[in-house]
Amino acid sequence: MVVGRKRGSERRRKAVARVAALHAKVRRQRLDSAHKAALALVRGYDVIVHEALNVAGMTRRAAPKPDGEGGYLANGQSAESGLNKSILDAGWSAFVAILSHKAQSAGRELIAVNPANTSRTCSRCGHCAKENRVTQAVFRCTACEFSAHADVNAAINILRAGLALREAAQAA
Ligand SMILES: [Zn+2]
Repeated sequence: MVVGRKRGSERRRKAVARVAALHAKVRRQRLDSAHKAALALVRGYDVIVHEALNVAGMTRRAAPKPDGEGGYLANGQSAESGLNKSILDAGWSAFVAILSHKAQSAGRELIAVNPANTSRTCSRCGHCAKENRVTQAVFRCTACEFSAHADVNAAINILRAGLALREAAQAA
């Protein structure tokens, strides 16, 4: 019980309203970041490839881990770059929806690929093993010793898969 914040009191009502306004502000800022990140992608690239959303593994990876104290820890996905951070802040599905809309209006190609094994497959030799993923950030292939930031390695695999799909679609 916090003194002066009795349930139903005027001060409590105002405090609740302030918190609600703050949440709305944070949400607006996150959506704004997602819009900016999506716009930068659409302006910079003709073809954009992303991991498909409707796959169980994807949502499992994105689920936050309870920290045991009633709160949530960051889910461990890399949030180092501003772009990644914007995406995570707004929520991946919200970001893809925004990106999809902007890509469509700008006449860009947006390609979704199966996310299975994108982060454990070596982008140099194709060796796929969970041991390749040394930590959340570090990828090192146990077969050819190729080493890279795990997100960069995964991004190369995702792009390659997307371009292969695109080529197959064009050949058909
Ligand atoms: Zn390799």
